[in-house]
This record gives sequence, structure tokens and C-alpha cells, in this order.
Amino acid sequence: MDITLEDLTRDPLSNYVIEHYHGLLTEVEQSAVSALNLKFKSDHSSSPGLRLQLIERRGLLADPEAVRIFDMGYVRGRKEVRENALKREPDQIFLNYCRKCQRLCRTPFARMCVHCGYCWYDIPVE
Ligand SMILES: [Zn+2]
Repeated sequence: MDITLEDLTRDPLSNYVIEHYHGLLTEVEQSAVSALNLKFKSDHSSSPGLRLQLIERRGLLADPEAVRIFDMGYVRGRKEVRENALKREPDQIFLNYCRKCQRLCRTPFARMCVHCGYCWYDIPVE
């Protein structure tokens, strides 16, 4: 099954946690996510070989746990990494939800909602 960009945007929480809290992932999770990203780009590239070689060259799948996450596929693997991070570091990860529509903002520091346009510049950052 091909993953489209549309599929990816249906999982904004994984994108948010992995992108903005990458440092809270374990080394193995970071490797697995990098391998998944390379595989995803490879699958959607006209010259897929190079990126797949990088997975091996960088030793991203040297750990069996990284292989297990990688084998789950892009969406499920990233979801698992996200859930692990949220369980492990609940106090470190700030989920910045819009004060008006309650949808997740693009970044932890956003003061304007991309979904409904609501702004809360006047409310101090927590
Ligand atoms: Zn909103």
C-alpha cells in the first residue's frame, strides 16, 4: 500500500512529537525514524537506491529494536515512537492545542492556529 502525503497529514501528532521533540527519542528510536524517512523518500523517488544504501551505511538498523520499529512501516512505526516518547516524557512534551478549535498547532511555540486562524499572542507562554 502506498502512503500518500495526505496519509501523513492525518497523523499530525506523530509529526509534531517526532519533529519538535526529536531529542527525547532514544538513540534506537531516532535511528528507526531516520531509516523510515529514508525508506519513505526512497519509495517516492525516481532513484530509490541511494537512500536505501544510506540506511545500511549509517547503520540505522543495527539494533533489533530499530528493525522491529522499521518493519512496522512508516505510519505505524512513527506512531509507536511517538507513543513511547509521550509515555516516557509526559512532562517534557507540550502539546500545543488551539484555545478555540482544540486542534494541534504546528509547533509547541505557535500562537496562531493554522486550522481556524485564532491568535493568542496576548496570552503568556506557559
Ligand atoms: Zn484553531
